[in-house]
Amino acid sequence: VRYGGNTASISVEVHGENPILFDLGTGLRLLGQSMPITPFAATALVTHIHWDHVQGLPFFPQIHVPGNRLDIYGPHQADGTLAEVFGGLMKPPYFPIHFSELQGDVRFIDVTSEEMAIGNAKVLVRPVPHVGPTVGYRLDWDGMSVTYISDHQAPYTSVDGRPTVTNHIDAGVMELCDGVDLLIHDAQYTPDEFAVKSYWGHCTVDYALMLAKRAGVKALAMFHHDPGHSDERMDELIEDAKCKGLAMGIPEIIGTYEGLVLDL
Ligand SMILES: [Zn+2]
Ligand SMILES: [Zn+2]
Repeated sequence: VRYGGNTASISVEVHGENPILFDLGTGLRLLGQSMPITPFAATALVTHIHWDHVQGLPFFPQIHVPGNRLDIYGPHQADGTLAEVFGGLMKPPYFPIHFSELQGDVRFIDVTSEEMAIGNAKVLVRPVPHVGPTVGYRLDWDGMSVTYISDHQAPYTSVDGRPTVTNHIDAGVMELCDGVDLLIHDAQYTPDEFAVKSYWGHCTVDYALMLAKRAGVKALAMFHHDPGHSDERMDELIEDAKCKGLAMGIPEIIGTYEGLVLDL
């Protein structure tokens, strides 16, 4: 109720430039209400095409206006181009229309591992361990850096027959996170929850803290909360993470919630 029930959708904004969105989850409907409807042009950097990261697209008010434009970058899929695979998800009978019937101009661009420019933003793309093709993004823009890793499968090993997270960090993940001003990162599970969902593609709060510390990030934003956690449980997890982060010397820990605005 307080933390919000919508799925992944973030906007990064620099005054006078087109916004860059991270993912197109159901939060996109509300996010769209806070933005000008037209004229509108933006870029969306999508981590992967699991439901919780793409379902908001047809509910984005801006996408129903002719002349508006959204360039969607996402990881190349084994079964075809991003546009083909996404088109298989958004079409009858799963949804009333195909994305090509939207009034706005939607364009898909496949990425894997690259450095590119979007307007004045420098964008680094690296694969991220999850379930299926997934990437993370780092933006260096207007003197600040922001990294977005929404879904991150923690490495693990068996300790006394129980799946336990290890401290290994993928080289591409480290490149994305190295010294970044703000890291928005998966922080879904406790160690007990991880032990029974170890292969579901996520990590623990402790893993996110360890990564933030070793990468020297200035602020860690805990993201992709477990839908089974109540507001009270979220309060406890975030308070606990703040205490641990302080002890570890991480400058700032942020418990994210729906509608949160951060001024960098
Ligand atoms: Zn996922
Ligand atoms: Zn997800």
